Parts: sequence; structure tokens; C-alpha cells
Amino acid sequence: MPRPTFQLYDTMSRAVVPLTPLAPPKVSLYVCGPTIYNYGHIGNFRTYVAVDLLRRALKHFGFKVDHVMQFTDVDDKTIRGSRESQLPLKEFTAIYRKAFLEDAVTLKIEIPERTPNATDHIPEMIALIKRLIDKGSAYVSDDGSVYFRIAAFPKYGCLCHLDLQNLISGARVNQDEYEKEGVGDFVLWKKWVAADGDVGWESPWGKGRPGWHIECSALSMEHLGPQIDIHGGGTDLRFPHHENEIAQSEAATGKTFVGHWFHVEHLLVDGQKMSKSLGNMYTVRQVLERGYTGRELRYALLSGANYGKNLNFTWQGMEDAKTALARIDEWRKRVRDTVATVPLTTPGVRAIEPYAPAVAFLEHLDRALAEDLNVNDARGHLFTLIRETNKALDEGQLTAAQAYELDAAWTTLDAVFGLGDATVSIPPEVQALLDKRAAARKAKDFSQSDSLRKEIEALGWKLKDTAKGQELTSA
Ligand SMILES: [Zn+2]
Repeated sequence: MPRPTFQLYDTMSRAVVPLTPLAPPKVSLYVCGPTIYNYGHIGNFRTYVAVDLLRRALKHFGFKVDHVMQFTDVDDKTIRGSRESQLPLKEFTAIYRKAFLEDAVTLKIEIPERTPNATDHIPEMIALIKRLIDKGSAYVSDDGSVYFRIAAFPKYGCLCHLDLQNLISGARVNQDEYEKEGVGDFVLWKKWVAADGDVGWESPWGKGRPGWHIECSALSMEHLGPQIDIHGGGTDLRFPHHENEIAQSEAATGKTFVGHWFHVEHLLVDGQKMSKSLGNMYTVRQVLERGYTGRELRYALLSGANYGKNLNFTWQGMEDAKTALARIDEWRKRVRDTVATVPLTTPGVRAIEPYAPAVAFLEHLDRALAEDLNVNDARGHLFTLIRETNKALDEGQLTAAQAYELDAAWTTLDAVFGLGDATVSIPPEVQALLDKRAAARKAKDFSQSDSLRKEIEALGWKLKDTAKGQELTSA
């Protein structure tokens, strides 16, 4: 059966359309990275987990992904943070760059091919701004900063479908973030002011620093060329950030900047928007402090709603993720144990006839992912497979060859879902008790073995004696 064509919702055309990269199988993917002035919250990471799913799904369909994500290490927020913590900007942002990458690993996010810091590319930004001035798309204002002239870019507003005539206020905006009502000529280069302290670079327009929007145009051009296949980010970046990126890039190159716009919707917490005042802006670390794993959080962020819809995070949802993963892990173990009953080197252990439920599952998986990354559908098919094959296992009907096929199907699914296997890390004091108990059992001292079991269980573990020895799971 031919594989389905990979289709994705495109914010610009507002439709689910086949992905058509410029030079297949290569897909260039640019994603707006975090501003590194604080720990990322789970709302930020919903976006990066969804992008990771996209990246993995592209690879699943045979594309070669070239993925760039920048770190915004200079803007109003990072400068304020570095001043408040009395650290040089570079040192201050390095803390949160490292934290972000650690949290990404916790969530089993694949690190993009390139993750430049914005400040590593100031000369490229200056060159791009010069090009825009030369073309009449930008100008130096009387306040010494450089602005993009939106009246010179008639397409302005195309991504968000803005009616420019009603919006142009004639005003200029010097902030990086503003509402639609504030649309106007936006800043490309900000003239240095005292509040910037020692942050500033020399430019043809004097000392200053780049605006936030020019970063992504300059960095994507530098790393991926004038046209990129997919541009992604959180939905709140659509305006003004992505509108401004389109204006800057297309005014400079005259080419269509992006083939496909990928936006991830909001994460709500208990049905509400996350906000500092509600105290519901949880960081990844705070979720871990409550006893959950990164794997469970990743599962929760990939459950409930697909990326194009708001997702509601709840602690009950985290419990559900834990239960669902325990069910998957138990099934995985049964399958692996069945595979292990026959050495893989035994001739004929791989099924000559493919195992039908595994084949059907892989077809469902392809169809679900090809249809705008429908993970909910894919997960539904996984649990159907688990139910059916658990029944076969209960009845002793699953052969090692069939189990092998199931194991391979899981590996294919998990290359996209990225859940990995449960790993139990056993604290040294528990390991010492386990060793003592193994010795007691060997010496047939069952009363000591029983009392050691009680000690281990009192520390929050479940213990099972199997043919292979003691098996520990967290209770
Ligand atoms: Zn960006």
C-alpha cells in the first residue's frame, strides 16, 4: 500500500495542505526559540514538544530535517534581568540557555541541528538592515533608531489577515511586543539608551542593539537561505513577530519567505490562561518537584488535544499520563519477555508472514500522522493494539516471532512519540537492601528475606520475585 502524503495545517492559507518542500527530501525548519531570561514554563514547552513531534514525524515520512532554533539573548527582558541580577548579559542568559536545554532533554526533545544565540549574528542583522534601507523599506528616524516602513510593503498583514488600511496609525513602535491596535512602523535597530548599560554594538547608525524581529529574519537567512519550508512557533508569535519577519525577509529578497506556517495553540492550566497572578505558570522543574517524570509531562503535553487546539493542563491529566504510561510499560515488558523466550538468532524467529495486528497498526499510524499530526488518533490505535495483544498474551497465543513484530512496531511509533522506556533509578540504600535480600534468599533465610522486603516496601517500592531475580517498581 502506498504511504499517505504528509499534510499539515498552514496558518497562511488556513487549510490542511500537502507539505511541498523546495528541495525534497530536505525540509528546512525554522522555529522561534525562547527568550532566555527565565526558566521556561510548560506553556512554552508545549510548543517545543509539538515542534519535536513535527520534526520526528517528518523523519518518519523520510524527510531530511534541517532545523534551526535561535535563542533570544538580547531584548528588553534579558537586559532588565541581567541588570537586576548584576550579571553581564552573556553570563545571565547563559544560565537560562543551559536550563532550557536541560529541560528539553528532560522532555525528550531532540535538539535542533543548530541553536545559535542572536548575539552571535549581530553583523548579519546590521547587513540586513542596511539592505532594507537601501531598498527604501526602512529608514533612520529622528530618534536615531531604524524602523521598517510598513507602507512600503503592501502585503503587510497577510499572515493574520489584517486590514491594513484600518490599522495604520502612522505611529512608530519602539517596543518588541505590541497589540494589533498599535500596528505601525516597527523598530529594526534601537539606538542605545542609558537603561541598556553596557549592552550595545557599533553600527552605521551609532551604538545600539537589534530589535527582536530582525533576529529571526537574519538568522533564518544565514542558516537556511532566503526561503524556508516550514516556520514554526507559538500562536502568540503570529502578530506582530511573524508578520514582521515576513515583511523584513520578503522586502529584502523579493522571494516568498516561508512555504508553510506551523503554529501551536495555547496551553491552559485548569481551564484558565496561564498568568503570574494566578500562580499557574508552572516550570518543567516544578512539575518534576511534584514527583512526575519528564516522560509523563511529555505524554500529557501530547494528549487531550492536537497541536492546533488549546490544550488544558491539569494535575489529574498528569495522573492519567502516569496510568497510561504504566499500562504501556507493562505491555512492553510482556512483549519483550515473549521475544526473549526464543533467541533472536534462531532461524525463522522473524515472522515469515507479517503479524497482521502490527501491520494494521503501522498503517493507522501513517494515516494519523499524515493527517495534520493527529496524535490522538495514533494513540487510540496504540491502545487498541495493546488491548488485542494483551488478550493474545493472556491466552498464551502470542509467538516470539509475533512479539518481535510488535516490538518493531513500537519502535517505529516511539521514534515519533519519543516516550522511551521506563527507567527505574534505584537509590543506593535500596540497592544495598536488595543485595542483602538476594544473599538471604540464596542462603534460604526466608524470615530475613521477608523482613528486608518490608523494609524495601516501606521506602516506597514494589518488589516481585521472578525467575530472573528480584524486580523492583516504584509503588
Ligand atoms: Zn522568530
